[in-house]
Amino acid sequence: MRSNLRRWGGKVKLEVTVDEAAGVVRYEVEDTGIGIAAADLPRLFQPFTQLDSTLSRHHEGTGLGLALVSRLTALHGGSVTVESELGKASRFTVTLPHQPSARPDKTPPEPNRRVVNERHAAQGTRILLAEDNEVNIAAFSDYLTAKGYDLTVARNGRQALELVAEIRPHLILMDIQMPEMDGLQTMVQLRATPEFRLTPLIALTALAMPGDRERCLAAGANEYLTKPISPKRLVEVIQTLLAA
Ligand code: MN
Repeated sequence: MRSNLRRWGGKVKLEVTVDEAAGVVRYEVEDTGIGIAAADLPRLFQPFTQLDSTLSRHHEGTGLGLALVSRLTALHGGSVTVESELGKASRFTVTLPHQPSARPDKTPPEPNRRVVNERHAAQGTRILLAEDNEVNIAAFSDYLTAKGYDLTVARNGRQALELVAEIRPHLILMDIQMPEMDGLQTMVQLRATPEFRLTPLIALTALAMPGDRERCLAAGANEYLTKPISPKRLVEVIQTLLAA
């Protein structure tokens, strides 16, 4: 960036505004750079994007910067917008939740805002939970539903296979010890079906025996978690797999 600027002889302006009413802080960065065509704006935040292969020879960079900014901002519950015109200035605005520490009113604290954003991200994401233990079902259901996921429960492997075909989940949580058909057999059958060969799948097991992890991964699991599973960790793994 710095070397590009030196070559352009351009200017960068940074403006930081606190919007108390909206509960946000805005970082606005404006340059006098090469600008961005309107048609290219949608691609801008995708990783490894250099908008023009001709330009990429003159303007260095990996094309990762904006993708990282966008991801990091989203993780903080914020957003990034851009206004630009080819050959003219570009203005990027990063908006983040802001909560002055000494504030007597009852604005929801930042974690609530985060929950709202997570719920938004999870909205419409179908998860199938194959699990026979009612206590685990209740715990996972409460947590994942509160996070905004659309959860369906199967009580054994056979039911899981039926429901997968029916609801076509975005991700599967698979207990290993289950009646009728266990998780390992279920995974093998799932992976033999071309349609569900790549559906992200997390194996959940209560008994961590040597070799369990390898058996689960060999049967087709993408990840393996040992109970007791922290709900927070579970959601982290779910989000990582869905983002991949
Ligand atoms: Mn079980």
